[in-house]
Amino acid sequence: MGLFGGRKTVFVDSDVLVIGGGMAGCGATYEARYWGRDLKVVCVEKAHIDRSGAVAQGLYAINTYMGMQWGENQPEDHVRYARNDLMGLVREDLGYDIARHVDSTVHKFEEWGLPIMKDPETGRYQREGKWQIMIHGESYKPIVAEAATKAATKVYNRIMVTHLLMDKTKAKRVAGAVGFNVRTGDFYVFRAKAVIICAGGASHIFKPRAAGEGMGRTWYAPWSSASCYALPILVGAKMMQMENRIVLTRFKDGYGPVGAYFLHLKTYTENAYGDEYESNWYEHTKEIVGDYVDRQPMPTCLRNHAILEEIRAGRGPIRMVTKEAFQDPHKEKVGWENFLGMTIGQAVVWASQNIDPKHTNPELTTSEPYVMGSHATCSGAWASGPEDCAPDDYQWGYNRMMTIDGLFGAGDTLGGAAHKFSSGSFTEGQIAAKAAVNYVNDLGKDQPQVSEAEYEDLKKTVFQPLENYEVGRNEIVAGTVSPSYLLPLHGLQRLEQIMDEYVGGIGANYLTNEPLLTRGLELLEMLKEDLDHLGAEDLHQLQRAWELQHRVLASESVTQHTMFRKETRWPGYYYRGDHPKLDDTDWHCFTLSRYDRESGDWNLEKAPVHHIID
Ligand SMILES: Cc1cc2nc3c(=O)[nH]c(=O)nc-3n(C[C@H](O)[C@H](O)[C@H](O)COP(=O)(O)OP(=O)(O)OC[C@H]3O[C@@H](n4cnc5c(N)ncnc54)[C@H](O)[C@@H]3O)c2cc1C
Repeated sequence: MGLFGGRKTVFVDSDVLVIGGGMAGCGATYEARYWGRDLKVVCVEKAHIDRSGAVAQGLYAINTYMGMQWGENQPEDHVRYARNDLMGLVREDLGYDIARHVDSTVHKFEEWGLPIMKDPETGRYQREGKWQIMIHGESYKPIVAEAATKAATKVYNRIMVTHLLMDKTKAKRVAGAVGFNVRTGDFYVFRAKAVIICAGGASHIFKPRAAGEGMGRTWYAPWSSASCYALPILVGAKMMQMENRIVLTRFKDGYGPVGAYFLHLKTYTENAYGDEYESNWYEHTKEIVGDYVDRQPMPTCLRNHAILEEIRAGRGPIRMVTKEAFQDPHKEKVGWENFLGMTIGQAVVWASQNIDPKHTNPELTTSEPYVMGSHATCSGAWASGPEDCAPDDYQWGYNRMMTIDGLFGAGDTLGGAAHKFSSGSFTEGQIAAKAAVNYVNDLGKDQPQVSEAEYEDLKKTVFQPLENYEVGRNEIVAGTVSPSYLLPLHGLQRLEQIMDEYVGGIGANYLTNEPLLTRGLELLEMLKEDLDHLGAEDLHQLQRAWELQHRVLASESVTQHTMFRKETRWPGYYYRGDHPKLDDTDWHCFTLSRYDRESGDWNLEKAPVHHIID
């Protein structure tokens, strides 16, 4: 077993295992206890649940709240909104299911101590926009994590899950997961009857705008390392819409949010010469996407598209006009507080660049692409829908169960339901947990079994990068360059460059085509071969090594899907140069894939989009 065979193995048994203690994971853990009073509910988290995931820094708004108690919106309205924003392609059953439950989730957050701002005149929650309500949310995550921690049998912090375990008696049934403690190096074998993956989305698969020492400054959480996709992909779960990456328009360099600025402060954008520019691109955009350009609100990708075109026409940068709004002391306060509650870095960037938004209109930028299932995009695993409203094509078992028995997901993990955000991700975790408890209760005597051979093999695989380093470290030829191993950072930079140049990143102006994608896949294949030679100097680097493994597999999936969809569905997120238009005749459908780890083949197919809301 090599140099590291003596490592301790810790066994943990559970009925429901939740992987990832972010928003969806907290929702799943909390709800699993509610429905499964006597069940063993375990949550395993790579960081520490109190401050982990995309909400770690806090938020200033809850982006999904219907306001049904005041008749503000109905769940059907939210489905229409998300469908419009995603250019017609969403799983309406999943979105509807979240929307009908999300308000009660938010009411719970308030009960648990989250300060939600109130409109002084109406007493209702203060709206930032039609769907968003404003919060004092610096402590949003610890508040939610407390509820999950109290509900869990145990939360295992600082353990990175690397692989799922499959049942030794039924090939398509999950039986648990393995991982390692990033502080002690102990190997963990989690045996479980049902597993809910809630491990966030994927940043750093495309080359980021910030390089070198600023590399951690990305819009999406830098620690969202695609585990939520790689774990199910590896065991053959079907994935959907992995081509549907997201590009965000944000304040330059700090990626500070623009939502409160547009919606609450009523700021607007202009080109470098102080002119309105969106109307310049109306005819051109109509040519590409047809009537979708007339939809209200304008889909997020099309707003990006106008910015990108205006910059290409030589009239960038695009600026946010803050000078007018910031003359109002209330708006000025809200503008700054917005950053202090969720992206302090943006305030620091402005201070360091002599930008006072009262006197200078700050620049905007478009981010590198990210892959996630909870924002204005919906990549992720293909899941069974709710019993009462999912069309037959979308229903094969328990709600939110993937195409692997006993394997559930929520939040960024699951595809099809865009605009979940923090509250919707928590809600989806609850929905998945309720179904997972039913699944466990229905198992009867037919319990999953883990195979000792499987987890012992995985133990060797998981620690191999430490061994590679130990054996090869004296062969360094220059600084960190070694003939016998690849450092995780070097592998990451190679991945990001491939994705950037071949799959439509910032360096390629978000543009790709079939020859580029074909070459990108070849280069990814070569990178995958080299991953067997990753070298990790310590446990931190071992974590980086496994994050890279997960990112590479998710990237391959993104590339395969991008190749399969022969149209430009979401201009502003990415462009297929060889198929530059939206094509509703052939591509008003979902794209699904399944990876076969034995052969390394990807099978892609189309699935129908059913509209259940008029
Ligand atoms: C910059 C930014 C701003 C946002 N603004 C808003 C906003 O204003 N309002 C709003 O409502 N929503 C907002 N969102 C969206 C919201 O944060 C996400 O929708 C939500 O956090 C997704 O929940 P999740 O559980 O899927 O992922 P996360 O909350 O990110 O949780 C994933 C968890 O999985 C853990 N994990 C990952 N890999 C592993 C592994 N291998 N093993 C164990 N654990 C693992 C991570 O450490 C993390 O704790 C924002 C997101 C970002 C990034």
